Amino acid sequence: MANVVYDNITLQYPGTDRPAVAGLALDIEDGEFLVLVGPSGCGKSTALRMLAGLEEVTDGRILIDDEDMTHVSPKDRDIAMVFQNYALYPHMTVAENMRFALKIAGVSKDERRRRVEAVAEQLDLSDYLDRKPKALSGGQRQRVAMGRAIVREPKVFLMDEPLSNRDAKLRVQTRSRIATLQRELGVTKVYVTHDQTEALTMGDRIAVMKLGVLQQVGTPRQLLDHPVNTFVAGFTGSPAMNLFTAEVTDDGVLFGNVVLPISVDVRAAIRGDRVVIGVRPEDLVVGPAGLESLQITATLIEELGADGYLFGTAPLAGDAVSVVARVDGRNHPEVGESVSALPVSERVHLFDPGSGRRIGSLSERG
Ligand code: ADP
Repeated sequence: MANVVYDNITLQYPGTDRPAVAGLALDIEDGEFLVLVGPSGCGKSTALRMLAGLEEVTDGRILIDDEDMTHVSPKDRDIAMVFQNYALYPHMTVAENMRFALKIAGVSKDERRRRVEAVAEQLDLSDYLDRKPKALSGGQRQRVAMGRAIVREPKVFLMDEPLSNRDAKLRVQTRSRIATLQRELGVTKVYVTHDQTEALTMGDRIAVMKLGVLQQVGTPRQLLDHPVNTFVAGFTGSPAMNLFTAEVTDDGVLFGNVVLPISVDVRAAIRGDRVVIGVRPEDLVVGPAGLESLQITATLIEELGADGYLFGTAPLAGDAVSVVARVDGRNHPEVGESVSALPVSERVHLFDPGSGRRIGSLSERG
């Protein structure tokens, strides 16, 4: 087990006009499950590959267990990596696939057997040890690929989009299995995905990246309750946070035909007469039309069992804006209906319209 430090790491690929990763500073604790997440091309795989030693950094240092590993070759970093395309050796059995790397590493025969059996047990593969990969389901094959990495007992375990070629149901199953396994093994893990749901459900902490730049790192709750900018706010949570540009008066924010009061301190932090207001769909309370609030016309209702989501449009600051609000799964307005929506005031986020940076809530800065 080990801690990992990205110490102001930058990598610019030759022939490109901006770094794929720029000044990444990130401390990953011993035993932590850290998820790197962001849209395609944001630099998350590059960040992972630099840790594995598969890409040479342009600037900065990588520390593993407090040792400078920046220029150490991949095989000497004591890291195991599971890729999106986990190639198993087709002519070898499950046990042989898992034993192979140990054999190369010079681990004794008895120890090899012990480790493979223990990991197979953890991964529910004990009954399949003598099968060839072609006789396994996709999920089982993936577990073998993970097992092959785990038996080596690496200091750090890396996974790059391991679930992206699974169907939805298997993704959810494998997701919980990986998360449980992580807790049992207690090994430091860095996991890359573009899927924020996966990130929020699996990670101890999540590092959100955009265009090579780390935006925020925090627990799922910190990201959801305290997004540092509109990018993180809009990227995390499902459906995403509503972000509206609203007009500001001397003492409040105009939200439809109601003024949401803001503190003097928050008002002083708002430059100009507009602010971006962020409200998650679950924090918008929908009621009958005509109340003092935002007036929404429902254009679509999505029923998801216990919950439903109302999608609609509303007039705000001279525009027709799109709005999403959570409603009851059974007892909800119909398409075409007009409703009112008021935010839970302590859950309103305010952002600067120019920089996108967080200003605070209605009552407090920060
Ligand atoms: P992600 O994993 O978030 O999708 P990547 O780390 O793969 O992003 O890529 C980050 C950026 O670096 C992208 O703009 C991508 O096009 C670029 N990139 C990745 N690999 C190379 C390479 N070998 N040569 C040049 N540019 C690359």
